[in-house]
Parts: sequence; C-alpha cells; structure tokens
Amino acid sequence: MSYTIKETKAATSRAREYDINSIPMGIAFTDHMFICDYDNGQWNNPRIEPMGLIPTHPAAMALHYGQAIFEGLKATLGKDDTPLLFRPEENAKRLNFSADRMGMPEFPEDLFVEGLKKLVAIEHNWIPKNEGSALYLRPFMYADEAFIGMRAATKYKFIIMASPAGPFFSRPIKLYAETKYVRAVNGGTGEAKAAGNYAAAIRPTEFAKAKGYDQVLWLDAQNFEYIQEVGTMNIFFKIAGKFVTPNLNGSVLAGITRMSVIDLLRDKGFEVEERPITITEVKEASTNGMLEESFGVGTAVGIAMVEEIGNMDFTIKLPKENPVSKDVQDTLNKIKTQQLEDKFSWIVPVE
Ligand code: PMP
Repeated sequence: MSYTIKETKAATSRAREYDINSIPMGIAFTDHMFICDYDNGQWNNPRIEPMGLIPTHPAAMALHYGQAIFEGLKATLGKDDTPLLFRPEENAKRLNFSADRMGMPEFPEDLFVEGLKKLVAIEHNWIPKNEGSALYLRPFMYADEAFIGMRAATKYKFIIMASPAGPFFSRPIKLYAETKYVRAVNGGTGEAKAAGNYAAAIRPTEFAKAKGYDQVLWLDAQNFEYIQEVGTMNIFFKIAGKFVTPNLNGSVLAGITRMSVIDLLRDKGFEVEERPITITEVKEASTNGMLEESFGVGTAVGIAMVEEIGNMDFTIKLPKENPVSKDVQDTLNKIKTQQLEDKFSWIVPVE
C-alpha cells in the first residue's frame, strides 16, 4: 500500500551544532520526527514534523499503566553516500509482536519502513561518515488516551526519532551473574520490547556496576541456572569449537543482531546451537579449557567481547583472544557499509 506522508520542514538544520562523528548515542536529536496517531480503530495522518515537544495529558495511559514499546536500528552510509537501513522489516515485525503482547494495536509494517526511509532521507546530513558511526533510529509507540482505569487504551502515538551515534569502541565487558533479581519469567513480557522491562532492569544494573561489573547476565527465575541474555544484548559462547546461544523460549528478546550473527557464523562454517545453556555448563567448560570465546550482540554496540563472568560465588575468566568474534564483527560492519557483498539481502537502501 502507498501512503501519503505529509512533510513540514524545520526552518533550519541544527546538524552543524554537533560533531556528529564523535557524539555519544542518544544525546542529540535530528531536526525532524515521524508521527502517526491511532484513534477510532485506525492509524491516521502519518507525517514528518520538526522535532519538538508533544503535548501530553497527565492521565495519558502510558504514564500510568505502561503501554509503551520501542524499537532500535541504525542507518549507515553505503557506496556513493546512499543511506542504508539494516533489516528494518524485522524491526517492524518485532514492534507488532510487542504490541500484541501489550494489548496495543499493530502498526502497518510497510508504513513503518516507509516512515523510516522518509525520515532518514530528510536527515541525510545527520548520518555520520566515520567507521563505526551511524544514525540511531528509535521507533516507539505509547498509549496517549487520557483515562484512569485498567484497560487497553483507545488512542496511541507512533513516533520515529533519530539520534547520531559516534563510533562505539567497545572494550571487553565483565558480566554480573544475577541471582537475586530477574528480567523475565515464563509467560511474562521478556520477549516483548516493552518499556517496563527496562525500568525493572535499571536498579539491578546499578548494583552490578557498583560491584565493578559492566552489565547484568540475566538468569532464569526458577533456578538462576539457565542463561537468558545480557543488558540489552543477546549472548553467544564458543565451547569446544561450536557456538551456543540461548534458544528463544519466551524469556529472551529475539535480537535482530542475534539472528544475523547466527547466519554469519553458519556461513563461515561454524556449527551454531540454539538451546538451553546453564551457568554450570559455562563454568565447567571454562574449568576444562573448552570455553573459547563469549560475546554479547545488539544494535547499539554491535558485538561486545566478554572478558569475565562472575558474582560473589565464582569468577570465570575468558581468553583474551577472540578471533571469530572479531571476524564476525568486521563482516557485519562491512556489510552495513557495502564494503562486502550483501549476500543475505539484509540492506535496504534509502533512495
Ligand atoms: N536483548 C534486549 C533486552 C535488548 O533490548 C536488545 C536491543 N534491542 C537486544 C537483546 C538485541 O536486539 P537487537 O540485535 O535487535 O538490537
């Protein structure tokens, strides 16, 4: 379906006020945003507007009952400076998966991708050129009906914002294996990209940081044994030559980087198992000298090598060399900037 997206341009661009090639992600926002309103059972008035405040009633239901979901992806520059999106239709599908779990309306997937393309085309001058830099895109949806009472809202907003993100030099990270707090339970909302999941993770992450770790390694809620994911990344282990990543059992977010890294590893000739994996298995593999590499994967960071996993009871040290992880990271970055052939058809050019 083809949509008419109305455009109201900002009078001037603020891009020159920033060094977009070195600015940390999430601090500066581009000149425009894409907005669409849901009312009377349908999405209306898709439009691009100058970035600005949104009037919000204090009873807007998202503020009270938490109907709020989001997505994250990046635009990079390819050959001839063409802006490129990485698998945006996967983000559209995941947004609708999250919407369904949170009792929110679906957003048309083709309009999601069209809105992204239109915004990125208008904000072309905000896409950083430096290696590893990108324009981070944040689509999100929230309930903005003014109502007090526990039910699904009837009014929502869908918005896409963009924020230039300088290169993320990820140093190796230390993970705190959390055995008090949990992120996700069977039947809960862990597999949705719901705002409340992140609120619940903030305090435990602060505690882990205070103990000298970088991120929380989330374990299952019953036994604190099965590994789920880490911070805002999925996790991989290389054990005795094979890769293992936790299967999508309802308590793990289905990362788009995870999905892509599985394909890349298999393409490079590695066996990849998606299956339950316990912290005990990782400890034993380490003791037996079989734990070869571990890394977290996600849109914001790309690939982050893990150097240590522990808590007050144990410490697992990972080898310092991560040859396969580094190779996968390099391949992914090169596909995203058209320095390597896009043989999986992941790239969507913005023309
Ligand atoms: N897990 C969680 C909890 C996340 O928030 C994210 C970031 N979206 C990921 C994993 C990685 O997903 P993706 O590769 O799609 O960014």
